Amino acid sequence: MKVIAHRGASGYLPEHTLPAKALAHAMGADYLEQDVVATRDEELIVLHDIHLDRVTDVSEQYPGRAREDGRYYVIDFDLAELRKLRVHERVDAAGAAVYPGRYPLTGEPFAPHTFSEELSFVRGLNKSTGRDVGVYPEIKRPAFHKSEGVDITSLFLDVLSDQGYTQASDPIFVQCFDAAELKRIYDDFNCELKLVQLIGDNAWQESDTDYDALRSATGIEEVAAYVDGFGPWIRQVVEPDKDGRPVSTGLAERIQAVGCEVHPYTLRRDDLPPGFSRFDDAARFLREELKVEAVFTDFPDLIRA
Ligand code: CA
Repeated sequence: MKVIAHRGASGYLPEHTLPAKALAHAMGADYLEQDVVATRDEELIVLHDIHLDRVTDVSEQYPGRAREDGRYYVIDFDLAELRKLRVHERVDAAGAAVYPGRYPLTGEPFAPHTFSEELSFVRGLNKSTGRDVGVYPEIKRPAFHKSEGVDITSLFLDVLSDQGYTQASDPIFVQCFDAAELKRIYDDFNCELKLVQLIGDNAWQESDTDYDALRSATGIEEVAAYVDGFGPWIRQVVEPDKDGRPVSTGLAERIQAVGCEVHPYTLRRDDLPPGFSRFDDAARFLREELKVEAVFTDFPDLIRA
């Protein structure tokens, strides 16, 4: 079971900072994840959200730059402006830490960085350690970016090509929640890279994709024509039975039946899926019962152990 470092070793350092990536690399992750969003000047940065306010000090540095909904959007800032921000552990709308047991909110000097910089950084770490860690980038909210006048997918594939990621055998999976966009990557860009369809919940409104239909045998089969794997939410592959014991939902089996890999997200020590009280039991269930090929985790070292 391969270890995908979800936003780096984000259980220990603020998500998507370069130190979090270096730590995940040292902890033995097989892949490092990059969530990718576009700036106003069409640069790509590594950040989980299209918003800045939950993981940076944007409201202090750029007061008055929020939209009417009170949120600060990456797409409203140029890269040079974003470089001045400090990145911190994720907070909720009230400013409290989402995971209180993690890295403290002490204003450490972590800065945002570009997608291109991170790919170079990973290559550097691979050289200096002699390891061959892959990358696992996600195109965030392509429909939103399009509505703002930016074709993020085109920019994203250009960066990958410039950085030498062009072939199916390269150590990379490209992931997206938007099924239409993944199909576009396959059909219109003739992309040979390995693709992963993420499966969300319709309530999240992450994209126009109907995830209920996608999870059916027919839905899986349709998408399997052009992807190599699926990234379901962990609660979509394992659920408690009437006695509270974890059992498969059948989704992992449906995906494996069409020859695709299963890469569930996200196994967290401090937010275990229902039916488990220990991280090790959840990891063992994924590996031995569901036989998933990879797992996203905030704690790469715990999976390795
Ligand atoms: Ca992601």
